[in-house]
Formats: sequence, structure tokens, C-alpha cells
Amino acid sequence: MEQRTLGSTGVKIPVVGQGTWQMETEDEAGCIDAIRRGLDAGMTHIDTAEMYGAGAVEELVGKAIEGRRDEVFLVSKVLPSNASYSGTIAACERSLERLRTDRLDLYLLHWPGSHPLEETFRAFKDLRAQGKIRYFGVSNFDQAELSKAIAIAGVNEIACNQVLYHLLERAVEHRVLPLCERHGIAVVAYSPFGSGRFPAPDGAAGRVLASIAAAHGVTPRQVALRFLLRRQPVFVIPKAASAAHALDNAAAGALRLTSEDVARLETAFPLGRDRGVLPTL
Ligand code: NAP
Repeated sequence: MEQRTLGSTGVKIPVVGQGTWQMETEDEAGCIDAIRRGLDAGMTHIDTAEMYGAGAVEELVGKAIEGRRDEVFLVSKVLPSNASYSGTIAACERSLERLRTDRLDLYLLHWPGSHPLEETFRAFKDLRAQGKIRYFGVSNFDQAELSKAIAIAGVNEIACNQVLYHLLERAVEHRVLPLCERHGIAVVAYSPFGSGRFPAPDGAAGRVLASIAAAHGVTPRQVALRFLLRRQPVFVIPKAASAAHALDNAAAGALRLTSEDVARLETAFPLGRDRGVLPTL
């Protein structure tokens, strides 16, 4: 599994991590097994949020990582409605309890909200000083929001921006990714398989994907993840509810595409024009 430094943190984490959204709707034992097998395969970056299943997913993740906390780079998110100074502190305490741990490795503001960012970031910094979080970041911030956040948080403070990014939705490449590159901020690609919108194998673009996968003896999903990882600040967090899917995704961490593969994918899944907005789920 390839590792990369997460933004300006100096910490190396695997390029392929594990999402957990909607796991509360699935077989719990199967999801716990998927997460653990994913950890075995090096996918130690685990992404969750207080929002997921209204806390139920953090509880599931807490069970999955029991006894293995030190292997994990654990990420959770505060809801914008809770992101006042005191609300953020309290939300973090609740997340820690559900996750059965004393610290998060990374704590994100889930999307921009109405509480002043100054308050949220002051809470993040106080949580960091207390050792309850190691790093903080944001999610679903467009270029303007991220520029403002950098000005408020300070240089090299925001570890990542977690954003929607997959083959059929590359809008982040217009402005957000270049801004993150300039400021040493990691881009964590959420819904890297389009959250159910994965290219059909019988469409023209899907056939390109399938032929590249066949040439490398891998699956189209592994090629899709590796395409997103072609730029240095990017990490991916696919969600898998079965060990088989988790292990399939982990294998993308060792795949290498040729420049010709990348060029073919760029053409088959065009960037599209800059609509000036950052799409979200
Ligand atoms: P996703 O990872 O794009 O796609 C998940 C779907 O792909 C599931 O149906 C899953 O099936 C399937 N899948 C996974 N691996 C597979 C494989 N190897 N072969 C075939 N199918 C496979 O969707 P997502 O959950 O929306 O996004 C990933 C993570 O990003 C989330 O779980 C969450 O942690 C994060 N996220 C963050 C935000 C945000 O606002 N910050 C928003 C959305 C998501 P099974 O489940 O059956 O394995």
C-alpha cells in the first residue's frame, strides 16, 4: 500500500482508506469484518462522522477498531449545526465516547455552516492542545470558502479538504485541487465510486475503463481509484460493506497506471467546463 504525507502534517497515511457512510443500514458483523480486513491490507485511514446513522456508525467503528486503535488514522466530523465553540468541544467528546478512544487523528467540519469559522477553529485548536485531536480540516469547502478558512486558521493549519471526486465528477480539479496543491492541503476524495454511480461496463467510457483494467489484470474500480490518485495531494476513501470489496479496493494502493492509461481515462471521462460551484452529495 502506497503511503503519502497528509498535507502539511508530516504524517504518512495510506492512499486508499475506508469510508463508513450508511454502514448502519448494513449487516454490522459484515461491516466490522470488512473494516478489519481492510486494516490488515493497510487501509488504516478510517473516515466516519457524527452524522452517520446519528452516531451509530461511530459506535460500529469503535467496535471494529477495538484493540487496534494505534494502527488506525481515525477521522470524524462535526456537524455544522454543532460547530459553535462549545458545540464542537461537546460533539468531539461524544464522538470519542462512541468510538471508544481518547483521541481522533483528524477532525473535520462536515460542510460550511452558519457558526463563525473562528469559533470552530478555536475549538479545534483547543481540542488539539488537549490531545483530543491531532489535526483538523474541512469538508465540502469550495475555493472561496477554503481561501477564507486558510486566512482564519493560519498557514499549514488545515490538513485536508474532503470533497466529492470520482470519474464522473471531476469539478474539484478546476479550482479546489489547485488551491489545495498551492497551500499544502490534502484532498480526500469522498464517494470515489460515485456512491452508486459507477460507470456501466457496457457504455463507451466503461469499456475504456474495463480495457485498461484487463491490461493490468485488475478490476475497473482499482483503475478508477488509481486515476483519482494521479495527483499528489489526493487520497481516496471508498466504502465497502464486505471484506471482498475492501480487499479489492486496497489492491489499488499498489497499482500503477501508465501515462497513456491516464490520457485515455481523461478523454473517456472528460473534466467538463468550470461551472464555478463545488458539487456535493
Ligand atoms: P463510494 O465509496 O463511492 O461507493 C460505495 C459503493 O461502492 C457501495 O455500494 C459499495 O458496495 C460499492 N463498492 C465498494 N467497493 C467495491 C468493490 N470493490 N467492488 C464493487 N462494489 C464496491 O460511496 P460513499 O460511501 O458515498 O463514499 C465513500 C465514503 O466517503 C463514505 O463512506 C464516507 O465515509 C465519505 N463521504 C463523505 C462525505 C462528506 O460530505 N464529507 C459525503 C459522502 C461520503 P458495498 O457497500 O456492498 O461493499
